[in-house]
Amino acid sequence: PGIDGFEICRRLKADEQMREIPIIFMTIVTKTEDKVRGFEAGGVDYITKPFQHEEVLARVTTHLRLRDLTRRLEEANENLERRVQKRTAALSQANQELQAEIAERIRAEEALERERMLLANIMETSPVSIIVVNRAGQLTFANSQAERVLGLVKDEITQRTYNAPAWRITDFAGGPLPDEKLPFQQVMAIQKPVYDVQHAIEWPDGRRVFLAINGAPLLDELGQVKSVVFALQDITKRKRAEAEIRQLNQELEQRVADRTAELETANKELEAFAYSVSHDLRAPLRAINGFTTILAHRHRTNLNNEGRHYLDNILQASDQMARLIDDLLAYSRLGRSGVQRQPIALDDVFSLLVEEFAPRLKESGGSLQISDELPVVMGNKTLLTQIFSNLLDNALTYRRADVPLQITVTPQTKAKAVIIRVCDNGIGIAPAYHDKIFNIFQRLHSEEEYPGTGIGLATAKKSVEILSGRLWVESEVGQGSVFFVRLPME
Ligand code: ADP
Repeated sequence: PGIDGFEICRRLKADEQMREIPIIFMTIVTKTEDKVRGFEAGGVDYITKPFQHEEVLARVTTHLRLRDLTRRLEEANENLERRVQKRTAALSQANQELQAEIAERIRAEEALERERMLLANIMETSPVSIIVVNRAGQLTFANSQAERVLGLVKDEITQRTYNAPAWRITDFAGGPLPDEKLPFQQVMAIQKPVYDVQHAIEWPDGRRVFLAINGAPLLDELGQVKSVVFALQDITKRKRAEAEIRQLNQELEQRVADRTAELETANKELEAFAYSVSHDLRAPLRAINGFTTILAHRHRTNLNNEGRHYLDNILQASDQMARLIDDLLAYSRLGRSGVQRQPIALDDVFSLLVEEFAPRLKESGGSLQISDELPVVMGNKTLLTQIFSNLLDNALTYRRADVPLQITVTPQTKAKAVIIRVCDNGIGIAPAYHDKIFNIFQRLHSEEEYPGTGIGLATAKKSVEILSGRLWVESEVGQGSVFFVRLPME
């Protein structure tokens, strides 16, 4: 009460639950503005009183159907809207994916391009020549270095087969190279990489380039050799240098051989001279010695002290000279006649020497120990006796006054040789003289201090060398000496 039909309609329409219900005004009003008001308030129809029952029903039914239809339409519309939205979302997703894919593809292409550029740069700046040969033997690629080495411009190269006659493939001496030895054929045959295959190519003008070649097959999807990539290194300079070195070596060897022959001749002449001089000196020396001895026997009493002293000096000097000449003769005689080499038991050599040196050893109060494991060597008994006699003689001579002399002889067997060590506890030798003492007339002491001629070790060394051995010393002053004699056993 208090509100009119329009207000009721407005309130119904304002209610969420009622809003959908179609409202039909039933009125006696027939003014157009009232009708408009009714429609504005949310009404759907007007029935003007008086009205027929059937008409009311028919209108209600129609409006209800209309409302249902509207609802279904709205639903269908909503449905459609949703589907459109879904589809749009799917499309936009697909679009995004496509964009991403395109971007990815562009990136990959750029990366590929960069790789391609890098490879091209590497190829062009590489000091190694790179060529690609297809399986038909056609050159399909060559870098700049290849151009330089092969002496052709790139287009020319790529028009050629690997063994085209513009350059001749040869061995290092310029001789022909059989086809199967060529790196291309080798890779094709084994379908695997080859390394450091070397050959030369000869340019039309006759120049020859030496190459060291690595080759690797490139396979197609079926695993068959599609082409072969080769890295060619120009080794001309190296080969030339090697040849030069070989040549120089040969020349050097020849010069050494010539020089050795010259020296040998000079040495022989010198030895012959030394031999004849010492030989010729013997007779006058014998005369001096003989007459001085007679003088000493017959006229010694007639001389005063001074005269006797001079006489003794002359006798001593001529004895020393006789020894010198004998040693020199022995030295220069060495090797003049061929030396027979045969197996010699060193035991035998030393048992003779022990006997020979027994009196001097006893007198000096020293000891001599000789290993009982001395082997048999390839040598010559006279030479071996002379070598070891010399070493033992020196050990006895150059002993120290303050300690009892001890000499030991021990072997050390090597593969095909033996090293005999002759060891003493004598005065020792300063390292500076270790080589010199083996030279003729090299002495470290005066005749008064220690008697000797300075020829002993030179003779021993020469004898050891005649037997294809070696003689050397290790020693320190005051520490004794060890002489090493290396002798072959076969
Ligand atoms: P010599 O003994 O007649 O002087 P060698 O040629 O036998 O001549 O020896 C040369 C020099 O080497 C000797 O004068 C001596 O100084 C030194 N020498 C040789 N053997 C020994 C040794 N066992 N101990 C110390 N010095 C030695």
